[in-house]
Amino acid sequence: MAKNFFYHTPLSELHAITNSLQKDFSKLNIKTVGDLLWYFPWRYDDLSEVKKIAELQDGELATIQVTVLKINTFRSWKKKIIITEVTVSDGENKLHATWFNQKFIGQILKIGDEIFLNGKGQIKSNKYSMSSPSYEKVKDRPLHSARLVPNYHLSGKISQKQLRFVIDKALKIAPSVEDPFPVEILNKEKYPWLFESLQQIHFPNDEKNLKKAIQRLKFQELLYLQLKYQLAKKDYQANPSYQIVAKQTVLDKLIKDLPFGLTADQKKSLDEVLFDLAENKPMNRLLEGDVGSGKTIVAMLAALSTIQNGQQVAFMAPTEILARQHYLNAIKLWPKLLEKNTALLSHSQQLFGLENISTKNSISKLLANGQIKLIFGTHSLIQEKISYKDLALVIIDEQHRFGVKQRQALKTKNSDKLVPHLLSMTATPIPRTLSLTLYGDLDISLIKTKPLGRQIVKTFLIPEKKRTDAYNFIREKIALGQQAFVICPLIDESEQLDAKAVLKEYEKLKKEIFPELNISIVHGQMSAKEKNTTMKDFRDKKSDILVATSVIEVGVDIPGATLMVIESAERFGLSQLHQFRGRVGRNDLESFCLLFTTDPSKSSTKRLQILASENDGFKLAELDLELRGSGEIFGTKQTGLMALRIAKLTDNILIKKAQKWAKEIINNKKYRSQTQVIKLLEDLKTEMHLE
Ligand code: ADP
Ligand code: MG
Repeated sequence: MAKNFFYHTPLSELHAITNSLQKDFSKLNIKTVGDLLWYFPWRYDDLSEVKKIAELQDGELATIQVTVLKINTFRSWKKKIIITEVTVSDGENKLHATWFNQKFIGQILKIGDEIFLNGKGQIKSNKYSMSSPSYEKVKDRPLHSARLVPNYHLSGKISQKQLRFVIDKALKIAPSVEDPFPVEILNKEKYPWLFESLQQIHFPNDEKNLKKAIQRLKFQELLYLQLKYQLAKKDYQANPSYQIVAKQTVLDKLIKDLPFGLTADQKKSLDEVLFDLAENKPMNRLLEGDVGSGKTIVAMLAALSTIQNGQQVAFMAPTEILARQHYLNAIKLWPKLLEKNTALLSHSQQLFGLENISTKNSISKLLANGQIKLIFGTHSLIQEKISYKDLALVIIDEQHRFGVKQRQALKTKNSDKLVPHLLSMTATPIPRTLSLTLYGDLDISLIKTKPLGRQIVKTFLIPEKKRTDAYNFIREKIALGQQAFVICPLIDESEQLDAKAVLKEYEKLKKEIFPELNISIVHGQMSAKEKNTTMKDFRDKKSDILVATSVIEVGVDIPGATLMVIESAERFGLSQLHQFRGRVGRNDLESFCLLFTTDPSKSSTKRLQILASENDGFKLAELDLELRGSGEIFGTKQTGLMALRIAKLTDNILIKKAQKWAKEIINNKKYRSQTQVIKLLEDLKTEMHLE
């Protein structure tokens, strides 16, 4: 939400509230008037139809508009209860409304008042009554009856009535709020003004107006998100980058020497990347493809091309294990090209060439003087006080996105002030519209097809009673020299608990199930060195089964593994399960994924069955999104998404519209020069840098 004086007024200045109530509001994240106005109802009760008393049905909820004729407050003969009896009339019939122990009603209502009553009508021998109806005076704009009545999620002592009252109060002062949109958008899209939209979403005149308001407010959120992306992109691209001209013959030779031919999509993606690199404005491209589609090789060819051109490349992976794997694979594939200029830098290891001699300090020097051309590592490659001679390309593997702050950091990495090109690779394939929301500022290259001859990993949901059979099956496969992963889920956010669960599984397998086999374990609490040794031993087939936690092992490549066993599979999303499954099936042997669940409920079983029958990562991502919502898939920390209060990642049409308009606004002076737009863009920029 853009800054605005009114929006930033503390709630307490709008309305006197007690400290404890203020705390309850804080729990709902309502601290300012803006928060309050953007705290939207989650549903509405349709009390809009106002009936005549004669139309009441016994026992049915209804609203009537009546005049107060008589008020009578008395103590019941059972002593303690105070009864307020109010006689009302709609001009044709009379009705008795009764309240218990609500003394103040006798003070609020006056004879002659026009009021709405909402409650269950009771009819006995032609006499109408209502017990404890909700009431509201007609002269106020009705908030609680005779309309679509908003219902909010509450906290602590806050009541619906109170919240409606305060929001109404804010709306009464709010007309001064100006609309941040260019009027052209409002006209073209037929959106109501901001103020009207806020008014209508809280207290809608009717369904139609409510719908319009919701559309406008969703659009606003999505537009702001897209504007931020476009601003960030513009901001980064305002700096020049290196012009990397691919030496085609050299590249052709490299490609020809690969142990496999590139797929058509790999070739196309590589061309797109090389095209961007050849321009002097920085690339910001996302390489998207299913698990095992071969993204790494595309990135590596771009890296080699950059090195050939004389500049440096940083290849960032999410974990130390993965960084090391990429590093070793690269040197193995291109020993002559890389042995003398390639390094690995992570929290616990520094390698240059294949030597383990360098300290962090000397790696740093070699990067600054340009002797290291290609460096693999984790985030430490950009976070630490490391500078480069001429870092021209940063490759980011298996990460959702590279935020504004991180890009900002890259601006100062080079001695010559040029900024590097960015190539990101997703961990999970993502539906198209979703990638607009998540990566609105990135150009996208898609690898849709997998390399030829890839196995479909046969996936089964195993009922508990078949567990022994499954273990026997695993035993048979291992007897043939194949290997298995066993994945245990994250029990808790705490790594300690996590380690405990995986240790327990490890002990069980080792002692009770497969005492004759070699079983190893890897989890987040182990040192990088222990992890490396374990992974290396597993790859060298020194162990048959690797028990692992879910958090650390995305992306590992163990060619000999054909079995993926997942415990408590219901705890994972479809995309993540598909990721795990992608760890096997990387050779020409038949591969299997065996799912166990501790939750035999229908919905959970159904979800896991989907995985068993669907092999396309893009389709699974879409299903996952429908089934679980985006928060679960991408985590709440995902930049930008936290800010979405009303829009959803599945609002496809609005998302596309928002992206189109964001581009218009940024690139077309007609919009960009409008006062309120200038202000909006400035506010968004500030917000962006604070995130
Ligand atoms: P991901 O896209 O999941 O990161 P990788 O880049 O790790 O996949 O590739 C998976 C495996 O496929 C690697 O072992 C890689 O060498 C191999 N590979 C990549 N491209 C091809 C291809 N065109 N043909 C055959 N194998 C390939
Ligand atoms: Mg990968």
